[in-house]
Amino acid sequence: MSGELRARVREEFERRFGAAPSFLARAPGRVNLIGDHTDYNDGFVLPMAIDREVWLAVRARTDRRVAVHSIDFGEDATFSLDGARARDSGGWVEYLRGVAWALEDDGRPTRGWEGVAAGDVPLGAGLSSSAALELAAARTFSAISGVVWQPVAMARIAQRAENEWVGVNCGIMDQLISAAGAAGHALLIDCRSLETQLVLIPDSVAVVVLDTGTRRGLVDSAYNERRAQCEAAARFFGVPALRDVDVATFTAREHELDPVTRKRARHVIHENARTLDAAQLLERGDLAAVGALMDASHASLRDDFEVSRSELDTMVELARRDDACLGARMTGAGFGGCAVALVRREGADTFACDVARMYTEVVGLEPAVYVCAASQGASVESLD
Ligand code: ADP
Ligand code: MG
Repeated sequence: MSGELRARVREEFERRFGAAPSFLARAPGRVNLIGDHTDYNDGFVLPMAIDREVWLAVRARTDRRVAVHSIDFGEDATFSLDGARARDSGGWVEYLRGVAWALEDDGRPTRGWEGVAAGDVPLGAGLSSSAALELAAARTFSAISGVVWQPVAMARIAQRAENEWVGVNCGIMDQLISAAGAAGHALLIDCRSLETQLVLIPDSVAVVVLDTGTRRGLVDSAYNERRAQCEAAARFFGVPALRDVDVATFTAREHELDPVTRKRARHVIHENARTLDAAQLLERGDLAAVGALMDASHASLRDDFEVSRSELDTMVELARRDDACLGARMTGAGFGGCAVALVRREGADTFACDVARMYTEVVGLEPAVYVCAASQGASVESLD
C-alpha cells in the first residue's frame, strides 16, 4: 500500500518538476483500540497508527512560498509563509497553511518548498486523514528547514493547526499517534502528561476497522454537552478532571450524583481503568481479556455515555458473532463512523468479508472494511 503511494508521489513529482524530489515524507492515519471520550478528561487512550498514510514528495524553494499539487483532489495550491494570518479557502491546503502558521508561531522558522501530495486514508471516515496530512506537512517542514524531529512537540503544533487554524476541536491523540506510532505497536497515551508507552501487538491478531458508512450529525452540540457533564462531575469530586477519580472513590459516592451525570462519569472513570488494563493485558498477550474490555467499552459508550447509534451497535454485534473475533467496539467520538475489532489473524480476511456481507444484509449500507497493520509514525526519507 505505502509502496504504491511512495511511487505515485515520486513519479508525479518527476513528471511536474523534471527532477527527483529531495525528500519523501509520510504520516499515518490511526484507529483507537480503547479509551474514547477520555482525552478531554485528562485520561488515557490506546491508539495505533495504521498502514494508510499521506505522502509528500518535495524539494526546497529559494523563496518563502509553498506550492503543492494534490493528486487526490487534482488541484494546485500555493501560499506564502509570510502571508495572511487567517485561513481562507477552507480546503485541504488549510491543513498545510495551519501547520506553517503554528510552526512560526511556536518560534520555529519555516522555509519554502514545492511538491506533490497523495494519500489513502479515507477522508472523513474517522481514521484521521487530517492528522496524517498535518504530520506529513510537519515532517516536510522539519526536513526542509533542517530541524530535529520532536514527535511530541510536532504533535502539539499540528493539533494547534487543527484547533486554531482549521477550527476543529480535537484532542492530542490523533496527532500524537501519527507522530510517534511504531510498527507492530499500539501507543498508550497519558493525555495529561503526554507521556507515551509503546505496547506490542502480538502477530497472532489483526485489528480490523469496520466503517458503518454512517456519518455523525449534530455532533458538536452533543460533544459540548458531554464535556460539560464531565466537568460538572469533576467539580463534584473536587478534582481538576475525571482522570483524578478512581473506581473505588466513584463507587462510594456515585449515588449522590444526578442520574445523567452519574452515567457520564461512570463511563469515563471505568474507561480510563479499562484502557490502562488493556495496555497491560495486550503486553502480556492476554488477547481474550483485551477483547472483553473492548466489549465492555462499547456497552459503556452505548448505555452510559450514549454516543453510539444503531448501525454501530449492529456492526459490533455482527463482528462478535464471528468465532475469530476477540472483541469489538465503536471507536472515535461516536454517532457514526467506524467500529474496531480485535480478530485472530488467521481468520481476519474471512471475518472481514463475512461481517461486511451480513452488515449489508441487515442495514442496507455498503461498509468499508480495513484489515490494518500497526505502522510507523511520521517519517522522512532524503533522496539527495
Ligand atoms: P478525518 O480526519 O476523519 O479523515 P477530517 O474532515 O478531519 O476527516 O479531514 C479530512 C480533510 O483532510 C479532507 O477534506 C482534506 O481537506 C484533508 N485531507 C486528508 N487526506 C488528504 C489527502 N490525501 N490529500 C489532500 N487533503 C487531504
Ligand atoms: Mg480529522
